[in-house]
Amino acid sequence: MKAVVVHEVNRIEVREVTLDPPKAGEVKIKMAATGVCHSDLSMANGTFPNPLPMALGHEGAGRIEQVGQGVTNVKPGDPVVLSFVPNCKDCFHCLRGEAHLCEKKRILDTGSQLDKTHRLHEGNADIPVMNGLGCMAEYAVTQSICVVPIDPGISMRVAALVGCAVTTGVGAVLKTAQVKPGSTVAVFGCGGVGISVIQGAVLAGAQQIIAVDLNEDKLEMAKKFGATHAVKASDATVKEIRGITNRKGADYTFEAIGLAAVVEQAYAATRNGGKCTIVGMGKKDDRFSFDSFTFPLFAKTLCGCLYGNANPSVDFPAMLNLYSEGKLDLEGMITNTYTIDEAPQAFEDMVGGLNARGVILYE
Ligand SMILES: [Zn+2]
Ligand SMILES: [Zn+2]
Repeated sequence: MKAVVVHEVNRIEVREVTLDPPKAGEVKIKMAATGVCHSDLSMANGTFPNPLPMALGHEGAGRIEQVGQGVTNVKPGDPVVLSFVPNCKDCFHCLRGEAHLCEKKRILDTGSQLDKTHRLHEGNADIPVMNGLGCMAEYAVTQSICVVPIDPGISMRVAALVGCAVTTGVGAVLKTAQVKPGSTVAVFGCGGVGISVIQGAVLAGAQQIIAVDLNEDKLEMAKKFGATHAVKASDATVKEIRGITNRKGADYTFEAIGLAAVVEQAYAATRNGGKCTIVGMGKKDDRFSFDSFTFPLFAKTLCGCLYGNANPSVDFPAMLNLYSEGKLDLEGMITNTYTIDEAPQAFEDMVGGLNARGVILYE
């Protein structure tokens, strides 16, 4: 079968690979759709510290093809969304209602399965898979605790987006920051996650939603999804946001890029007593700083956000219900579709700012 594999930094290739059947507690999925996310690129271009090779893909939907021994949550034929955070319901965090921090993620993030062996191979070599999924491929084998069954009526390409961008962005607003109706929101970065933050802010009843990006096309797109103001990123961004928000700064800001310099801007654009939520994931050595005098004085909250504080088993179906009710425009986020052979082009288009979301389709 075909999978998108990175062997060297910045070399994204479609490769012929082999996939073992699922072991106990695992499932095999015939992929239907995979979103192309900036985190896939961060894995490929060395932003993330993981060693290569790595098979990409962490935002996808498909149908269960085969289940390993002891799997009870899904059966062959079930449509599922893959989750890049497992949901073991048994670890320190899962037991405390913090499913997004499930401790089993640590092993899967190395690219192996929970027993520390690999299912994907090229010749005799093991190929680690991103987040234990590697779902930018015709098939994927992963843990049964990494799939969530969904309503069979839902379009698979829409369902795929719920696996990362939508759950992250909408969740950041509704669950992490808990934006109040009537408030002001600024979003730095208008890719798939940023657009999802904007849609979440609309759902939360925000009064002003300020989109910030370097790319004018993305700002136009942001307005279509509910941004009330668009600010082209520059040295004057913070000043502009203060101008729009009665010189106070925004009640809530979201950093959806993963750059320390932008985190500092987002923090500066947050009003005193407001909340700055960091969603974008960047480099380990890219450090932001705040001074010890004004940090307590301004009493702002600076908050990290993983997966929108989601509990995938509950929140994936909830996001898809919002879509079915017309409250989230997920179809509109899909600006281009590709075959798996066109995956390298999909990454080029993302870098070029052409897509809210590009999606690879297999059927
Ligand atoms: Zn992602
Ligand atoms: Zn857990």
